[in-house]
Amino acid sequence: MLFRKSLGHIGQYFSMSKLIDKSHQNAICLLYHTIKTENSFHTNHLFHTKTIDELEWELDAVAGYFEFVTVEEFLKVKQDPSNNRRVCLLSFDDGLLECKTLIAPLLLKKQIPAIFFFNPEFAKGEKIFFRHLVSYTIAQINQKNNLTDQKKKELFAKLNLFKWSQENELKEFIFQLDNQIFAEFSKLKLFCSVEELLWLRSQGFALGLHTANHPLLTDLTLEEQIEQVRNGIELLQDERIKCFAFPFTDYGIGKDLMAVLKTLFDCSFGCAGLQTSSYKNHFQRIPMDDGSLGSIEKLKEEYLYYSLKKSIGK
Ligand SMILES: [Zn+2]
Repeated sequence: MLFRKSLGHIGQYFSMSKLIDKSHQNAICLLYHTIKTENSFHTNHLFHTKTIDELEWELDAVAGYFEFVTVEEFLKVKQDPSNNRRVCLLSFDDGLLECKTLIAPLLLKKQIPAIFFFNPEFAKGEKIFFRHLVSYTIAQINQKNNLTDQKKKELFAKLNLFKWSQENELKEFIFQLDNQIFAEFSKLKLFCSVEELLWLRSQGFALGLHTANHPLLTDLTLEEQIEQVRNGIELLQDERIKCFAFPFTDYGIGKDLMAVLKTLFDCSFGCAGLQTSSYKNHFQRIPMDDGSLGSIEKLKEEYLYYSLKKSIGK
């Protein structure tokens, strides 16, 4: 991590254009989740989210090197090695409400296409995302004056250990800390509803699936994985290109599930940064809110890391 971070700083001595040309990675996909608002307690402790103004500056900076394109155009460039067009597909994961209220208006103003990956059970209000509850609880504990910093640190570490399959244990743990936290969290509207997602669609944006309720797929049996990736696929009926994005990571995913995805979707996405994939029409995205770097610093870090890996044959 430290090494990668230092690449972000070394990047200032390199030209972005030269890094792109040298790597032959002229079609990239960026991953964001949401933006920071005064109510972002559910995401503040998960991501380095930007404000809407910061997102606009980041996109303006990226636009100096890449042309923002739709999924169709992105695929076209990816599938043709002789196509040198520098293109960037913008993606947002988890279907959070700010995608509709703040991000879509910004993108419409700037005429930037994007794809929004959502979890049908969140959109329908059937499930919560346990990581949002963890972040929200950390924010609440942070405000408590009756706990020492050391005690808070211990609680944050414990909260961050809960897994997707331990949602009930997590709720119980939080209830024991403060029986109001979950009650307050449950009242929040955090996700776009299905209607709001379809509104995004009506505005020209693409929608893609992100599993039913965001598990770490490698924790599940193949049958459970298939159930997760099929759920809600009917909502993509109007998509010309059907897309799927792995929740958390695609690391460790087996060939069997990749074969099933091929029958259901036209392409799939991971979030391992700039790298090529051995699976056809499976692409890695660059996670933009996993650190405090600005967009060009982050891209330079990715390109330098990619070039270094290539130079040692990885
Ligand atoms: Zn996600």
